[in-house]
Amino acid sequence: MSKIVIVGAGYAGVMAAAHLDRAGIPFTVVNNHDYHYFTTLLHEAAGGRGPAENYQVPIKEVLRKDTSELVIDEITGVDREKKVVKGKAGEYAYDYLIYSLGWISEYFGIKGLKENSMSITNLDSAVQIRQHIENEFKAYTQDHDPRHLRIALGGAGLTGIELMGELVDYIPTLCASLGISYNDVDMQCIEAMPTILPMVAEHLRPYVFETLTKKGARLRTGTKIMEVTPGVVHLDGGEKVEAGTIVWTGGVRANPLLADSGFTVDRRGKAKVNSFLQSTDDDHIFIAGDSAWAEDENGKPYPPTAQVAEQMGACVAHNLAALLAGKPMKNFKASLKGTLCSLGAEVGVGDAFGIPIKGATAGLMKEGSKIKYLWELGGVRLAGDRGKNVMQL
Ligand code: NAD
Repeated sequence: MSKIVIVGAGYAGVMAAAHLDRAGIPFTVVNNHDYHYFTTLLHEAAGGRGPAENYQVPIKEVLRKDTSELVIDEITGVDREKKVVKGKAGEYAYDYLIYSLGWISEYFGIKGLKENSMSITNLDSAVQIRQHIENEFKAYTQDHDPRHLRIALGGAGLTGIELMGELVDYIPTLCASLGISYNDVDMQCIEAMPTILPMVAEHLRPYVFETLTKKGARLRTGTKIMEVTPGVVHLDGGEKVEAGTIVWTGGVRANPLLADSGFTVDRRGKAKVNSFLQSTDDDHIFIAGDSAWAEDENGKPYPPTAQVAEQMGACVAHNLAALLAGKPMKNFKASLKGTLCSLGAEVGVGDAFGIPIKGATAGLMKEGSKIKYLWELGGVRLAGDRGKNVMQL
């Protein structure tokens, strides 16, 4: 019997695992936690909307059959010649590998940025950001140093704007609980490009500005971060922003293991795949999610989004099952349903199937997308049990 190993239980890996589990095909998932977390909702955990446990599902709740095995380990490399993935705790031999180790922050070589900022890369780091902000605000009540109340976010893409949306809802409550005037808080999102949210229709961007600035945020465009030293963001015009909390939300790249393991990668470290999502370097390796350099029928690379990752996960499970059964595999084609950007718990902005939406409609659709995802992962069982947590019902 062929040995199947899945590395990484993000959106792509866990979806592939759920499909193989349902099909009763034996496999092993190697992941660094025993839970799968919702990467697209980490800004909620960082901004204090809900406790960390609301944003995760134990992998054992997804894998129900005894043909599925979960191993907790951190993967450090792939030896394609020996067909072995290496972890810190052991080695895992495979006949077929599903590689879905996701992304890391992209720092673009900006001096001091990695060392002197936080980033929302996983559930732990999201919780650390919330705790850090709370500690800074508590410190302000002791020494009244205004730097404790300054929060600087670097980059106004979806991550930066969604995090700011959470902060403008949460920080007033935090201030009230500590006896701090919200007027003394300075929260700024610093964006190098002339506009925020390039993926959202241009005519909707003023709504984002209005919603967030009315609630106390500053959105600064055309302002590039050049360097970060401890507690200081250095901007291109020479201005220095002294901030107790500095969060980098300026971009992502694929996990570097792919490049380190000799795969053909693009400028953001994604490995080239064919239309079946097999590595072009090795057809025993399927690559799914933000690590995959996959293109649509017009040669346009798919974006590193959760909806694409989930669909890739389902596709690699299907193709692997087909391959093992001697049946034809199918070409991957993502169905792009749109982009939704929350602006706090109530409202949002984006598009559904190309139709621009904003306000409560977008906020509700974003909430609905949480249940839809859980449904696809584990049917009524997960949507019912976990859905009420993640939607705080
Ligand atoms: P991004 O690359 O989309 O946005 C980063 C922003 O940072 C850009 O606007 C960029 O111009 C800016 N930036 C880069 N360098 C800078 C500098 N030196 N100074 C100031 N600004 C700088 O990154 P992201 O927002 O983390 O998103 C990453 C991926 O994840 C995207 O594909 C996105 O679609 C996806 N994502 C989706 C959702 C959602 O669907 N709601 C949420 C978060 C992320």
